[in-house]
Amino acid sequence: MTERFTGSFTQQEPIPEEGIEAALRVMQSGRLHRYNTAPGETAETVLLEQEFAAAVGAKYCLAVASGGYAIGTALRACGVKPGDKVLTNAFTLAPVPGAIAGVGAVPVYVGVTEGLVIDLDDLAGKLDQARVLLLSHMRGHLCDMEALMALCDAADVTVIEDCAHTMGAKWNGRPSGTFGRFGCFSTQTYKHINSGEGGLLIGDDPEDMARATMLSGSYMLYGSHAAGPAPETFATLRYETPNISGRMDNLRAAILRPQLRDLDTQAKRWNARYDVIEKGLRDVPGLTLVERPAAEAFVASSFQFLLLDWSAPAVAEVQSRCAARGVELKWFGGAEPVGFTSRYDSWRYAPSAEMPASDRVLAGIMDLRLPLTFSRDDCAQIARIIRAEVGAVWQAAA
Ligand SMILES: *Cc1c(COP(=O)(O)O)cnc(C)c1O
Repeated sequence: MTERFTGSFTQQEPIPEEGIEAALRVMQSGRLHRYNTAPGETAETVLLEQEFAAAVGAKYCLAVASGGYAIGTALRACGVKPGDKVLTNAFTLAPVPGAIAGVGAVPVYVGVTEGLVIDLDDLAGKLDQARVLLLSHMRGHLCDMEALMALCDAADVTVIEDCAHTMGAKWNGRPSGTFGRFGCFSTQTYKHINSGEGGLLIGDDPEDMARATMLSGSYMLYGSHAAGPAPETFATLRYETPNISGRMDNLRAAILRPQLRDLDTQAKRWNARYDVIEKGLRDVPGLTLVERPAAEAFVASSFQFLLLDWSAPAVAEVQSRCAARGVELKWFGGAEPVGFTSRYDSWRYAPSAEMPASDRVLAGIMDLRLPLTFSRDDCAQIARIIRAEVGAVWQAAA
């Protein structure tokens, strides 16, 4: 009998008991709004900001409503205006070009390599088209960050990092999100810490962060942002910066703080699961693994492999055969957007030039989530099923 996987690719772990207790205390207090504090009390939101800034070594941190909101705020705080072009990855998730469109700007897509990172040669050729690069570390893959920063610095292009999949990750020992002018994180359920929805924005420049704080809807209460810039920084900015309301609340922050403390442990658990799948998929004819550079310390909340140069029907066949055995593979190369997955050419509000080299890679990217509710035995079984089905379709085509 062929084995079938019965776990759920979308089942998260529960919120830690400590987070549930902290959430109950916030609810019992009734003070869910970050600016509603009792005398002498520091809001959970402020504590989260301080702890996150300390964890990544950023000067400032601002908690907001979502990762997409953090990105939009960073773009605005960098002065991106309607009609401006913004460079970004062709391989990313829809909220990234969406955030660019949200400020009235126009995405210019940069290609993806077989290593699933931004193509630095393609980037070099496009740096004269925009002042800002919104760099998405899609699915947790970090490019050579020193090389990227050198290119962008030389061209005077500002880098904003989308770290939705790299919370806790590092490049050459330096936390993801601290290379660019802003780092944007998500605390949405499928990311590395879970408050349903939520976002965190980090940066080192006081004026940038003062602008972001005003934008997020601080009113004139910015003085309570202990992880924000000094009140003097707001002297003029507070008159000039619109309130585009998108704060985080104390309930979410209370849930997140214990998860942030556990992040390193969780990262090890994710990576242990990744290792099992990677080993299980070694030396499968036709299947390309994504080799991770030694400089990259990643947090593997998902797994990707490539079926490079396979025909679309053959990839679809692998996908449906795996699905029949309980293994959900997402295919970034599918002609139509499905679920959370879409391609740069499905975002028709932002037309793109043809990118054949990237199309070849995108057409072969298979992606699976690795929730921590999977055991290592589950991962071994998932790898066996993928191995068998890729092998079967490959042999039939030979
Ligand atoms: C989830 C995600 C975002 C947006 O985060 P939200 O908190 O859902 O708004 C941005 N970029 C990438 C790559 C993501 O996966």
